[in-house]
Amino acid sequence: MTSKQYMKVTTGSRNIVNNKNSGFPPFAGNDGELLHMKKKLKVSEFFYSIQGEGSTAGTPSVFLRLSGCNLDCSFCDAKHLWSKGKDSSFNQVIEEWQKNGWLENLKSGAHLILTGGEPLLQQPALFLFIKHLDKLLNLQPYIEVETNATILFDNDFLNRINQINASPKQVKHKVLSQLTKSTKTKFKFVINQPQNIEAVLNNYVLPFNIKRRNVWLMPEGKTKTAIQKKSPMIIELCKKQLMNFSPRLQIQLGVR
Ligand code: SF4
Repeated sequence: MTSKQYMKVTTGSRNIVNNKNSGFPPFAGNDGELLHMKKKLKVSEFFYSIQGEGSTAGTPSVFLRLSGCNLDCSFCDAKHLWSKGKDSSFNQVIEEWQKNGWLENLKSGAHLILTGGEPLLQQPALFLFIKHLDKLLNLQPYIEVETNATILFDNDFLNRINQINASPKQVKHKVLSQLTKSTKTKFKFVINQPQNIEAVLNNYVLPFNIKRRNVWLMPEGKTKTAIQKKSPMIIELCKKQLMNFSPRLQIQLGVR
């Protein structure tokens, strides 16, 4: 797709993205009104790669990293990313994805991963963006949401998405109750040492009756060496607890 095929047309005070010859309809509603043209997301980055962690590790995916987090974990390996960001209109995001061929990838089965930071800090705008994207693609791509399990999902948003990758850092009863009730939720816990499994069991798995087959344990670490060193210990925990091991391919393989 060349930039010439993806033209931006100005009509009065409104910008219409006219993706002529792209196979995608212009960004206008059935009644000709423009869709959410003023809606914006605060975006840190977007890229196309494979999912690095959890139950869908290895799956080709478009990542949309939203700026900002409501926590400040000492072991965070993404703070340098989510602490930055700029306001981006829906069209600015979509236009880049179109140019890179990622809309076609989403149509063909790539997942869309909403990550952060904490993407639910921007939940209302995010839901509008997804509705906008669904309409544009004329189908609903598979959506994973990465969350730290501190913010409730709105019902409409929860109904639309396909998978929640919850990585709780605090015990928020209402949120954890919502997440454990949903069949879409997979839980990921970062493990640094064997004793960490006690907190996973006592704070989350046992009180919230989380099914062990929905739990992934993954090594804490920002380097390939740290991940490799801790992985055998975590695999042993997984075998004993009947939980799943999660790699961190983005660190282990240096993939982007
Ligand atoms: S919740 Fe996640 S993104 Fe936020 S600071 Fe903690 S590890 Fe980082």
